[in-house]
Amino acid sequence: MRKYHAKKLDKEALYPYQPWKITEQEFLINTNHHNEAIFALGNGYMGLRGTIEEDYPGSEDTTTPGFYINGVYASEEIIYGEEAPNLPQKGQTIVNLADWSEINLYINEEKLNLLKGQIHDYKRELDLKQGVLRRKIIWEDRQGRKIEIKITRLISLSREHIGAIRYQFKAINFSGKISVNSAVNGDVRNHHHLREKRALEVIESEIDTNTGHLLHKVKTSDFKVAYVVEHLLDEYSKDNCEVNKRSSDNRIDWIFEINAVEGEKYTIDKIVGINHCKEEAENPLSAARASAARASITGFENLVEEQAEFMSGYWQDVDVKIEGAEVLQQAFRFNAFHILQAAGKDGQTSVAAKGISGEYYEGHYFWDTESYILPFFAFQRPEVARNLLLYRYNTLNKAKENAARMRLEGALYPWRTINGEEASGFFMGSTVQYHINADIAYAVNLYYQVSRDQEFMENYGLEILIETARMWLSLGSYIPMYDNKFCFNEVCGPDEYKPGVNNNAYTNYMAKFNLDTAIKMAEIIKDKSPEKYKRVAERINLTNNEIDRMREVAEDIYLPYNEELEITPQDDSFLYKNPIEVDNIPEAELPLVKNWHPLIIWRYQVIKQADVLLLMLQLGDQFGRDLKIRNYDYYEPKTTHDSSLSPAIYSILASEIGYKNQAYNYFMQTARLDLDDFNENVYQGVHTACMGGTWLALVQGFAGMRMFNNKLYFHPHLPDGWDKYQFRLRFKGSQIEITIKENKAKYMLLSGEKVEFKHYDQLIILEESNLCQEVEI
Ligand code: BGC
Repeated sequence: MRKYHAKKLDKEALYPYQPWKITEQEFLINTNHHNEAIFALGNGYMGLRGTIEEDYPGSEDTTTPGFYINGVYASEEIIYGEEAPNLPQKGQTIVNLADWSEINLYINEEKLNLLKGQIHDYKRELDLKQGVLRRKIIWEDRQGRKIEIKITRLISLSREHIGAIRYQFKAINFSGKISVNSAVNGDVRNHHHLREKRALEVIESEIDTNTGHLLHKVKTSDFKVAYVVEHLLDEYSKDNCEVNKRSSDNRIDWIFEINAVEGEKYTIDKIVGINHCKEEAENPLSAARASAARASITGFENLVEEQAEFMSGYWQDVDVKIEGAEVLQQAFRFNAFHILQAAGKDGQTSVAAKGISGEYYEGHYFWDTESYILPFFAFQRPEVARNLLLYRYNTLNKAKENAARMRLEGALYPWRTINGEEASGFFMGSTVQYHINADIAYAVNLYYQVSRDQEFMENYGLEILIETARMWLSLGSYIPMYDNKFCFNEVCGPDEYKPGVNNNAYTNYMAKFNLDTAIKMAEIIKDKSPEKYKRVAERINLTNNEIDRMREVAEDIYLPYNEELEITPQDDSFLYKNPIEVDNIPEAELPLVKNWHPLIIWRYQVIKQADVLLLMLQLGDQFGRDLKIRNYDYYEPKTTHDSSLSPAIYSILASEIGYKNQAYNYFMQTARLDLDDFNENVYQGVHTACMGGTWLALVQGFAGMRMFNNKLYFHPHLPDGWDKYQFRLRFKGSQIEITIKENKAKYMLLSGEKVEFKHYDQLIILEESNLCQEVEI
């Protein structure tokens, strides 16, 4: 690990180490911004940043309030400095929607403001076990009146359209008027990216005693969003309360005025139903009303209970238990919680680079989903993985249009998108990364191997595999100077610091994998379900000739190897560039993406993120250990890890080749990237791919799990200082538990049929007569 990266690990923890909680112990303006992302709540459908309920008292540059629906975007024309044919014309940007979490409290006329008066007690905690966010404040206003406020907030994981807040207060040393002003604030704007930051217009607003709604339309698309609020007061609060209402064009306010009695507790629950629609002719209001009404009948306490139940089921499947490393135990749960919150589960949406926790990267989906997040779900919650792939199936037609734009056959998935169209205005950082097709094919195959979901493969998967494979046939060509091998020119591998190169090794190998897998699946389905195969083949015009051509090309693809250095060259030109090591770059100039003009970066042998090393992992069965070591030694010093997607992969490979120290350090950098804010940018939103990478680095790194050709392998070791770690996997319908202790690995069948795998060279079979087996490491 380079000095620059090692140093980051010395950063002081921002939150106390607690196994199931993230706690903010003090309200500070300078920690507010990253706390907004850390304490963000979401359920895959919608996400609310961890802003405080009352008006934020700090400066504008220390806050980015946000509430978003995954997949709801505004669309603006892309303005190019230099025009060129066939560039994407429109972008998509996730829209910051109405803030329904706003609640202000007044003691007489004095408004709760944590920078005024005195704070006697403050705590905000994200409860990972229960899936709720709690705040407790004891505040004394400038007249010496003390109040205790307790707030619980949730975005329901079992009801995707419901958000709720319980607001409780108690006058500690006085009796008098306390007003609670709860609002839906539609006067919001995007903070980044859009030129027209006010992306919404209000179509309708209505307010009644305890209920009301706002209906928004996104100005530049047909999306409409409805927010329906119901307030529920406990009997005692209701009896002592007068409600005033106020409504203006873009906000609705309820003012609950209570004659508070010293020592008494008052409770106001705010239940919010949120729905949206895509089509102009539709209206989401009645659905939002129904969502809110149902949740109100259920009541806040039951919503909390439901949430805890949901989480308990989730943790049954995904909890990684680590003994002897508290700091990591917390990180694992935090990351797994945010991955859950980020993932779209309806087949129409995916996982944005920042989840639903910020506006950065515009709410776009990248290859991050398939390469970093999908394995987490495939092995633990396969139904979510299936839905993520269905999103790709549902946007296959757009991918075909995208291929046509580039004069290619089949489908070319967009590099960054929400609706399936390419949304990037910078083709050297986007369209040039054709490898996204192979990454999606790889994920389709991975999901199929883990789940044996034949129905998925027959109805959706095969088509994705064939259409992505077709693209490669038309992108590549036979090049005489390369022995007439089939080459891919002007591409970019995962390392975005080397765009527009020929024969990126990752791309070539993965293209071959895409073609081979398409052929294999076509054969399997033809054999197993000939009728089905016939229908798919007819629909997409797939002929035996085309399959033959795929086979021929796959055989002929140029697979780079450098005899002199005995390594895999990243691409045709990489080894001929100016060599440089990260240790020789002044720290102030890192990350390079922010400090060097791209043309400067391109001159050097400098890498943004794992590229050849990712190939060594994904298709690891095709490469020997010695080559992996040589590639690691060659590329590691040149890698800046300027992308958070990188350290996890280096950690896994370091584990595999026995570089245990490096494996651990890169793992730490991955696992606590957001919690410790290593890159000082978590305020922009959490890094979902890196969170998925944390799981990969443990399961594929320390436990050495691999899956090739339907077979599962483990090569576990226990990192120094740990007592034990344990995780669960689903494989072909069964669930197994893996526990690694010093010198011992224990494998247990928890449910399902017989499972077979290898522990190093030893075949292990778990079945009813042998549910558990303990072996030496
Ligand atoms: C990385 C890409 C990644 C994107 C979104 C970029 O910095 O280089 O690989 O897809 O971020 O996370």
